[in-house]
Amino acid sequence: MGYFKINSEEFKFFEKANKIVAETLSLLQKNVHPGITTLELDAIAEDYIRSQNAKPAFKGYGSVRNPFPATICASVDEIVVHGIPNNVPLKEGQIISLDCGAEYKGYFGDSAVTCYVGDVSDEVKRLVEITEKSLFKGIEQAISGKKVYDISRAVQTFVEANGYNVTRELVGHGIGDVLHDDPPVPNFVPLLLHRASYPNIKLQKGLAIAIEPMVHLGAKETETLDDGWTVVTKDRTPAAHWEHTIIVDNEKPIIMTLRR
Ligand code: MG
Ligand code: MG
Repeated sequence: MGYFKINSEEFKFFEKANKIVAETLSLLQKNVHPGITTLELDAIAEDYIRSQNAKPAFKGYGSVRNPFPATICASVDEIVVHGIPNNVPLKEGQIISLDCGAEYKGYFGDSAVTCYVGDVSDEVKRLVEITEKSLFKGIEQAISGKKVYDISRAVQTFVEANGYNVTRELVGHGIGDVLHDDPPVPNFVPLLLHRASYPNIKLQKGLAIAIEPMVHLGAKETETLDDGWTVVTKDRTPAAHWEHTIIVDNEKPIIMTLRR
């Protein structure tokens, strides 16, 4: 589990990794428009990360038999997460979730945004807005003395009150000197029988976690495509994904991947 003492040397490396991720996403947000391909966005991200003496954290991630091949996850419409960049131009009216991770001197940053491609329907815009708001509902709970499920409950309650569903198969995570660390941070309060897999630990000052609601316009079920990565909603309704890496603190959490 990654705990940081603010202003320690490790903290500064971690801070830098997260700053690079935030800057990469800002750059990508400016470049999302009809006609651009997700491979072009991927190249922009990789070039920027390497220009900062950092490394893409997702490229090569996973099993040696099927490592993730790209710098960003580019998840269009019904793709929830882990979309693999390709050469298909984006089309007006789509949404695209961009997830980016970077490693700087052994420390990791992780963040995601969902962008509109040109003009998007009001129905889908609302999904994206509610998902972003649910991220901040979760972040608000990340203070010393609260527990992991306080984050989970805040996200789930807000999302469901607005008529949507959170993904069950994928969760947020601890982060620090590894990309995916303990504790898991679900966007739902696990059913009684599943609670052992998601320990409801007490949040302590200095704990670094990535909170990342994935929200479906339709039903909660997902499936993974044959490429072994791409997660889509089973009913093929659109999904949105927002993520920040944060550090638990006493009064209010520190958002490490805030974009300017
Ligand atoms: Mg991510
Ligand atoms: Mg993450």
